[in-house]
Amino acid sequence: MSLVFVETIPYNSISSLLRKVAYGLATTCVLGTAVYIGYSVASPDNHSSKRYRNPELNDEIEKVVSSLKLNDEQLKHIMHCLEEEMNAGLSSETHKQATIKMFPSFVRHIPDGTERGQVLALDLGGTNFRVLSIKLRGNSHIELTSKIFLVPQSAMIGDGKRLFRHLVECLAEFMKKEHLLQSGICYPLGFTFSFPCKQESLASARLTTWTKGFSCADVINEDVVKLLQDAIDEKGINVKCAALVNDTVGTLMACAYKEPATSIGLILGTGTNACYIEDLDKVGTWNGDHDEPKQVIINMEWGAFGDNGCLNHIRTKYDEEVDLSSINPGQQTFEKMISGMYMGEIVRLIILDLLQRELLFLGHRDTYGDYKTPIYNRGGFYTKFVSTVETDEGIKFSNTRRVLEDIGIRNPTFDDCVIVQHICRQVSKRAARLAGAGLAVLINRMGKPTVTIGVDGSLYRYHPRFKRNMERSMEGLVNKDFKFKFALSDDGSGKGAALVACVAAHNAPELLTKHTREIIDDKTSEANSD
Ligand code: ADP
Ligand code: MG
Repeated sequence: MSLVFVETIPYNSISSLLRKVAYGLATTCVLGTAVYIGYSVASPDNHSSKRYRNPELNDEIEKVVSSLKLNDEQLKHIMHCLEEEMNAGLSSETHKQATIKMFPSFVRHIPDGTERGQVLALDLGGTNFRVLSIKLRGNSHIELTSKIFLVPQSAMIGDGKRLFRHLVECLAEFMKKEHLLQSGICYPLGFTFSFPCKQESLASARLTTWTKGFSCADVINEDVVKLLQDAIDEKGINVKCAALVNDTVGTLMACAYKEPATSIGLILGTGTNACYIEDLDKVGTWNGDHDEPKQVIINMEWGAFGDNGCLNHIRTKYDEEVDLSSINPGQQTFEKMISGMYMGEIVRLIILDLLQRELLFLGHRDTYGDYKTPIYNRGGFYTKFVSTVETDEGIKFSNTRRVLEDIGIRNPTFDDCVIVQHICRQVSKRAARLAGAGLAVLINRMGKPTVTIGVDGSLYRYHPRFKRNMERSMEGLVNKDFKFKFALSDDGSGKGAALVACVAAHNAPELLTKHTREIIDDKTSEANSD
């Protein structure tokens, strides 16, 4: 074509024309190459092409992820709402309608490390059920043996009597193994029961509602201590339940045994909840005495924050879906945005949404156009995966790849890994910032110059960034005059119940056939004489 074109052109124009053609060809080549490269990079079928696409820049994904972001102003507003709800829960006039129940725990003395005795404890948390034997040596030293037992699904949703019989069977098995089934000694037992209970005394508490997947019949409004003691007596074992505590209270107590500045107990496990030390004159629902110390530990039951709709403006469609498919829709709004039982599920729903909109796992359909992955099934992405994915630093993504391969995504692309990690980070960061805002309310309210927050729960323990993200959010929210720090409480919820039971038993020796303090003293003198 170019030759024909040249023939029609006068001779003196040829050299300049050839130059133009050469330029034209060169330009076409360059443009062609550029277009080819551009196409390759943009091509939806080419995996290596998506390598350096940054999800921050992908509008669709970023829109989803930014719906999870909470700035300091939003958190301050949430703090304000939380404090109002707390006051409503504490006031006798508004307690009934209040969403956060703010139950007085009847625990008023914080341990100082001198407590002594041998005590048993049961810790029913939601996922784990543990039986513990605890020796308090009186020098801030605790010796502990424990065993984890399974609570079968059938016992979680069956008849209440069956659940308590199961707990007692486990207790008896443990005592047998530990040679504690001796006659003549009655062991005090502390029961950590981590469900909302209206406490009527240290050893009497009525369940107000089941949470965390439990829904046994004939337990709501019943005295849980009595149900447990009936099952113990039926089994005929030498145990007396001396105290029921919430796991938050247990955690606070166990931390305080080592670190007296502990004034908050926090749970970040299957569920989330917190307790703190409140002045008696702010507890309108308190019916007990006003002797020293004029304080009581309040079990907030903060998981229910938002159940009146006050958090709706920050909830996403994924939160709504998690709620609707739970066994307690409309309840535990705050908990469902924070805790281990729900975090993996929120991540799963986001991944599923992106997958269905063809923004993730491209090229992973089979010949029928289907994906074979548990991402389609409820519970198909565990919260522990969130921790694993976030453990990856840098661009290798070895853990993320392992998790994705575990859920059937073979050879995930670099981008798949980046996006999944981005989602996990934002979901867990939102949870940490919300929990941090809750803690900031408590620290500002108590007004103590230094506060230690005792924490228990697998989410806090194993997630690589949860603590850091909570601390960061709190830095902008806690009054600058107050210092705070976290203390991981090993087995705190169980140990704390034992501590409370030990103190209760010592204060009421008629509770026991033989004072367990003597057991400790006997063993100590035996050891000394050896
Ligand atoms: P419980 O709530 O029964 O006292 P845990 O404190 O052990 O028990 O919490 C169990 C919950 O912690 C599980 O529901 C799970 O969601 C979450 N979890 C378990 N392992 C991890 C992990 N590695 N990272 C984050 N969360 C985890
Ligand atoms: Mg627990």
